[in-house]
Amino acid sequence: INEEAAAKASATTADNDAPTIFDKIIAKEIPSTIVYEDEKVLAFRDISPQAPVHVLLIPKIRDGLTQLGKAEPRHSEILGHLLYAAKVVAEKEGIADGFRVVINNGPDACQSVYHLHLHILGGRQMKWPPG
Ligand code: 5GP
Repeated sequence: INEEAAAKASATTADNDAPTIFDKIIAKEIPSTIVYEDEKVLAFRDISPQAPVHVLLIPKIRDGLTQLGKAEPRHSEILGHLLYAAKVVAEKEGIADGFRVVINNGPDACQSVYHLHLHILGGRQMKWPPG
């Protein structure tokens, strides 16, 4: 293992509160396929889908929620809103009979974008345990 390269890689993926690619998606500076939107949240198709339906659901204002582990009491309303919106997205996507909601939290969970997001996956038989 090249330790310097590994350290650099983990540094660039660490939670450092920097803007992320999702800010550009919210601002529509880079294109995405939006499937649902309200005043607080945005849902769009993942660029690298892991299932026939793979949607990312994010708060439009990050407000410190780089990852779920940074949640504070003030975030409980948006966290609840996100979970309810996940159900709405699943219905709109036709996967209400079986879908999975995933939050990767931090490096050990392979989080790569530090703006809280829910993965909504479905359209195929999901396996357990996940990888
Ligand atoms: P994480 O690994 O942080 O849980 O998930 C980040 C997700 O964002 C990945 O599934 C990745 O494919 C997706 N992603 C990264 N960049 C883009 C992008 O520019 N557009 C879209 N639509 N998805 C992206």
